[in-house]
Amino acid sequence: MPYPKLTVDIKKIKYNCSRLVKESAGKGIEVAGVTKVVCGNPNIAQALVDSGIKIIADSRVENLKKLSEIKCKKMLLRIPMPSQADDVVRYSDIVLVSEIFTIKKLSEQAHNQKKVIDLILMIDLGDLREGLFYENEILKTVSEITHLKNIKLLGLGTNLSCYGAVIPSREILEKLVLIKNKIKNLFNIDLEILSGGNSGSIRLFEDNQIPAGINQLRLGASIILGIGIDHLPIEGLSAEIFILEAEIIELRKKPSKPVGKQGLDAFGNKPVFIDMGIRSRAICAIGRQDVNPEDISPFNDKIIILGGSSDHLILDVTDSEKKFEVGDTVKFRINYGGCLSLMTSPYVHKEFSDSASSVDF
Ligand SMILES: *Cc1c(COP(=O)(O)O)cnc(C)c1O
Repeated sequence: MPYPKLTVDIKKIKYNCSRLVKESAGKGIEVAGVTKVVCGNPNIAQALVDSGIKIIADSRVENLKKLSEIKCKKMLLRIPMPSQADDVVRYSDIVLVSEIFTIKKLSEQAHNQKKVIDLILMIDLGDLREGLFYENEILKTVSEITHLKNIKLLGLGTNLSCYGAVIPSREILEKLVLIKNKIKNLFNIDLEILSGGNSGSIRLFEDNQIPAGINQLRLGASIILGIGIDHLPIEGLSAEIFILEAEIIELRKKPSKPVGKQGLDAFGNKPVFIDMGIRSRAICAIGRQDVNPEDISPFNDKIIILGGSSDHLILDVTDSEKKFEVGDTVKFRINYGGCLSLMTSPYVHKEFSDSASSVDF
């Protein structure tokens, strides 16, 4: 088996997905399953569809294109580049939008391709990433959309806890319902969808804090990693779905402080070293080109990650009870950022297991 290897426990993903789909349905909420943290991986997308997902959402058109064969609606999460309007229309059914310039391009393209595209107009409720912030802008955009061909304003959406780290709350989401009502009164349009955010919004399930009217969530991290707001595990969901394994290519006893006058490292930083004497150091064949060392942690808690460069990960294995040799592998847990980059790296081999796995290190 080639390394580095990332093993994905599909069974746990299916478990998380079915649970969230069922729990959301009980609250009148449909789940769009988000695949961007796994680079639009078709195996994982299929697992979501097998677990009751009817809409797959991703931030990249290129990922939606990879998923063309999978039978479900495709939603583009990142507001589109105007220059990509043709592919956006070709590979998506639902598009999150905020700029009228781009919406007009989508309308033209949809007309050319004889398609109708559903739009979700993004409203910025304070997180300060995408979306219209001021009410007059929202109403003006809605008014302009009503004059455009081959597009349908399906609903409104918002995204929180991403850039500004704003915690989703009932009060914040109620604003979305108010805007929907205003649009109904002014334009006589009854919007079908209010898309109330990402995995961070699941915290509102607990005390029934999701306002009536919110009927969609776009969930990635919760399904695929079992985490929600502040990257904390969500109770009742499976975690440890991914195991990273990297191979040791050098194992040597060396001093813990570099020898010689120190300048900057490979990334322009000035590293600081503590003298711990002579230590056993293992170099694994994986690097920052695949993952940031800060985004992984060894299952064996006696192993210390010392750092890494583009293609090397350096570990201190002195205190490990298990004695390693060159050619052995070391197993790691990964976080959100680690999943994102490892799934994107073409150098990392992905293995999908549909049976329960046990970790021995
Ligand atoms: C990433 C993203 C999501 C999903 O977020 P998770 O935290 O992974 O659930 C939902 N909506 C938008 C617009 C996103 O960019």
